[in-house]
Amino acid sequence: IGSERSELIPLLLAYQDEFGYVSEFAMQYIADQLKIPANEVYGVATFFHFINKQPKGKFIIRLSRDMSSIMKGAKSVARQLRNDLGIRIGETTPDGMFTLEWTSCIGMNYQAPAMMVNNEVFSNLTPPMVHRIIEECRQEVRTRRPTVGNVGETFSSILSYSSHAPNSALTRAVEEMTPVDVASELTVSGLKGRGGAGFPTGVKWSLASKAEGDVKYIICNADEGEPGTFKDRVLLGKYADLVFEGMTLAGYAVGAREGIVYLRYEYTHLRPHLEAVLEARRQANLLGENILGKDGFCFDIRIHMGAGAYVCGEETALIESLEGRRGEPRNRPPYPVEKGLHGRPTVVNNVETLATASCIIARGVNWFTSIGTERSKGFKLFSVSGDCERPGVYELPWGMTVRQLLELVDGVGAKAVQVGGYTGELVPASQFDRVMGYEDLGIGGSIIVYGQGRDMLEVAENYLEFFVEESCGQCTGCRIGNQKLLDGVRLLQKGTCSNRYLNDLIGLSHSIKSTSKCGLGQASPNVFVAINEHFKEEIMARPVLAA
Ligand code: SF4
Repeated sequence: IGSERSELIPLLLAYQDEFGYVSEFAMQYIADQLKIPANEVYGVATFFHFINKQPKGKFIIRLSRDMSSIMKGAKSVARQLRNDLGIRIGETTPDGMFTLEWTSCIGMNYQAPAMMVNNEVFSNLTPPMVHRIIEECRQEVRTRRPTVGNVGETFSSILSYSSHAPNSALTRAVEEMTPVDVASELTVSGLKGRGGAGFPTGVKWSLASKAEGDVKYIICNADEGEPGTFKDRVLLGKYADLVFEGMTLAGYAVGAREGIVYLRYEYTHLRPHLEAVLEARRQANLLGENILGKDGFCFDIRIHMGAGAYVCGEETALIESLEGRRGEPRNRPPYPVEKGLHGRPTVVNNVETLATASCIIARGVNWFTSIGTERSKGFKLFSVSGDCERPGVYELPWGMTVRQLLELVDGVGAKAVQVGGYTGELVPASQFDRVMGYEDLGIGGSIIVYGQGRDMLEVAENYLEFFVEESCGQCTGCRIGNQKLLDGVRLLQKGTCSNRYLNDLIGLSHSIKSTSKCGLGQASPNVFVAINEHFKEEIMARPVLAA
């Protein structure tokens, strides 16, 4: 057992792997070893969804309840599971074999419904299929099946990422460019962070390179928790080399020696592949000491597993979690580029941003800036799911309209599209000529298509359930306000509504947004406000249901 606080979450997960759960006794033991108060260990353990505080079944079944899964039949799959197992959601069978739970999005929206059985992923589920899976688990003859092996192939178009020679970006940087050149070229390219915030990547690298300190870090944010997003998983599965190359370029530009991939727990199945790619890169001197023969250029990458908290996608919450604390967003400033992990200058970039940086350094600025629009340079990956015939991952130039995207994915006739995940924007059909780009809809890449028959209050309920579950609890508006808003939506679903009540809920929405510290609370009421604006008749014409 180590003694660093930052080892806390890996230790909790290691205990869980060994014993199935982390008992209070184990928490006390870990606290003693790390010399931190036991209540802090408890606070961290209870913060993360995937750290089991109680014994669970031998097979833990986690069924994704993102809206795409609900639309594709997750509730009937849940019914089958409940019937087969004889338990309700949240329970464990008396023989200790199965635990059944809902979970947030597991990054399989275009093959929904999907579930995890322990760390194995099953997609395109039907009731008969889950019945078979349960039977196989019971007989313990379950063999690993290629459920995730070809994810990203069907209806996916990712061209730029494979159209230059492997490691040509790193070779070019080492042979032809100074660290300053690398950051400058990215700044000129106009590349902005692909996680959704849109901060200029070259500027971030440049700020970190100028920040004082001998020790600096590069973090790859692979905590892809935004419901409806799965393109980072596809990138890591198919183009991990490019992501690691991007991290190494960042290390070169910034002067960092250590890179960390913060991989979401739901992507545990990717870890063996990623470790193998890292090892191959070490063997090829693409990581390690004096990379590609460049004196003094030393950089290596390790993988750190998340433990299940959507809010850790926010960079300061992610850093808190890496330091062994609850994943609660920090006040900013200071920004991570000045004072990040362990108080050191830290670059946090999304998976797609890092892969795209490799493409730009390999193929040059002119190639990248010739794609896209004046204010939105280059291309973007979109994760498309919901009511369309061709869901999948699409690489598209910035500047397409929502309507053009719908034609591409065969979702014409949609009622609305959620652009940018649950924290994004609900775009009604009357606005389908809006442009996807930083001048209008500058988004993280999740597209959920809602067909004509969809109940928008059910959509709002699903989103708010998610935000209530994922709020870290620091801000009163987010912690309590979202629950109140969810209660209100449920009343509206029963037809209990008046204009005055609706106005009260809109007022509540605005106060949640204005009193919340991070993007979760600031965006959580967006869906309700949008439904009130664009689909108010659905709320007002609701038949009154018996209590
Ligand atoms: Fe936590 Fe919500 Fe506040 Fe963000 S807005 S810091 S998730 S309570």
